[in-house]
Amino acid sequence: MQKPTAPLLSVETALAQIFDEIIPTTAQEIVSVTESFKRILAEEIISPINVPSYDNSAMDGYALLGKDLPEDGTVTLNLIGSSFAGTPFKGRVEAGESVRIMTGAKIPDGADTVIMQEKATPDGDKTVSFSSADNHRAGENVRFAGEDMKTGEAVLQPGKVLGAAELGMIASLGYGEIAVKKRIKIAFFSTGDELCSAGEELGDGQIYDSNRYTVFSMLSELGVELIDLGIIRDQRDLIEQAFLDAAAQADVVITSGGVSVGDADFVKETLDKLGNINFWRIAMKPGKPLAFGKINDAWFFGLPGNPVSAMVTFLQFARPAINHLAGKEQSRPFRIPIRCANKLKKRPGRLEFQRGILETADNGEQVVRGAGAQGSHILRSMSIADCFIVLPEDNSGVEAGEMVEVEPF
Ligand code: AMP
Ligand code: MG
Repeated sequence: MQKPTAPLLSVETALAQIFDEIIPTTAQEIVSVTESFKRILAEEIISPINVPSYDNSAMDGYALLGKDLPEDGTVTLNLIGSSFAGTPFKGRVEAGESVRIMTGAKIPDGADTVIMQEKATPDGDKTVSFSSADNHRAGENVRFAGEDMKTGEAVLQPGKVLGAAELGMIASLGYGEIAVKKRIKIAFFSTGDELCSAGEELGDGQIYDSNRYTVFSMLSELGVELIDLGIIRDQRDLIEQAFLDAAAQADVVITSGGVSVGDADFVKETLDKLGNINFWRIAMKPGKPLAFGKINDAWFFGLPGNPVSAMVTFLQFARPAINHLAGKEQSRPFRIPIRCANKLKKRPGRLEFQRGILETADNGEQVVRGAGAQGSHILRSMSIADCFIVLPEDNSGVEAGEMVEVEPF
């Protein structure tokens, strides 16, 4: 166990240790394409066909041979039939001939060019004329077989979260079912004698539990299975039972409260006894205390009790860790340099996640502004804000007009 006097651990070091220890799940299941929405792909998707599967028209117009187009003046071609989407023209187009064609319809054999109907002058259904004044180009308006996806091409990789475009791609390849990662199960609860559940009467010295609702919401966005174990009181036997129950049911256990140095409750004591857990003091603000480790076979994250600290540590540590365990492809946090419109106070030593509001300045420039009171108990700052202003450990404050980095929510 880390002593209260131990040096602060950098955010990067803690994250690296978490990623080192957690091995992504290999458990998978087969689901239908619609059931795969928002799930994590477990297999490489290889295209078994060309998409589109044949050369087809990008326009409503006339299919013909590019070499028939006039360099000067006008040419008139014989109309020999039509090609509709789903009902292709059966014959072959020869020099001097043209076929009426619709968008998505198969390009008839022999033809290599489609002229849009706005640049054609038909004479009944017998002939059609084209003028060099319209600047036609041989080969135009043809969509080629395999232009989107080619037979044998790997088009999606394991770890991809399947959204609208991916479901469309998978369906257009003709797959009815695919392999996705099994959902991770997560049990969560709040600890503390002072806590009262929303909807109940507040006693003297009590506060409402907000962390269970923020944690629930942030977990819900990850597509995991949730087990809400409520509030656990500061009693040795209750806490021990709660941790053991949670670990038996879930792949990950997340709690808030009771992990700060000098806490009077039994959370740390119990965790020390039950599991293999690091109690870290992280060089970040808000959210200095963070517990990470294992209780039996379940991963454990003990978030700090203060509501903003709980959210920030969840977003910076638990979320990437859960995504990693779930087998999701991950990118580094997306940070954007931007001018800060006001002065920000900060002491060097810890990486700070101040809450910020993105806005457009009078001169039209995109800027960020601090979201006011930054206390780790001011949950409203998370609601007002739409980004974190990320200030490095050694930063000692920001003057109005200086550049900073933001992480949009
Ligand atoms: P702790 O980490 O248990 O020492 O708690 C730190 C602060 O966060 C204290 O002011 C607690 O009352 C508060 N707190 C702990 N858990 C919650 C919770 N679930 N919801 C709201 N505030 C909490
Ligand atoms: Mg507590």
